[in-house]
Amino acid sequence: MNPSQYQKFCKKTAKKFKNKEKEILTWGLGIAGEAGDVAGCIKKTFSHGDDQKKGLRENLGDTMWYIAMICSFFGWNLGDVMKENIKKLKKRHPKGFSNKTAKKDKRRDWNE
Ligand SMILES: [Mg+2]
Repeated sequence: MNPSQYQKFCKKTAKKFKNKEKEILTWGLGIAGEAGDVAGCIKKTFSHGDDQKKGLRENLGDTMWYIAMICSFFGWNLGDVMKENIKKLKKRHPKGFSNKTAKKDKRRDWNE
């Protein structure tokens, strides 16, 4: 399944909202909740010795669903967003990650 197919599938499984503000608030809060679930599964697996890797996989998928829905809300193609991210990463780390290229990046945008 390619990103566009996935995005289309996600839309089919999403609640339909009449209120657009309520819709984006739902997707925005939803992705934060799923990211928190991802963090919780990692914490339980490694700090508590309680293997939650199955839940981790499921919640990574749930997080992707919200990514697709946020893209759809703004009329963005998920594959295009992925391509833009690849372009940014190639520019930042042209030969792959290194501490040197990471340190060279002097931006202080905590949202990245
Ligand atoms: Mg979940």
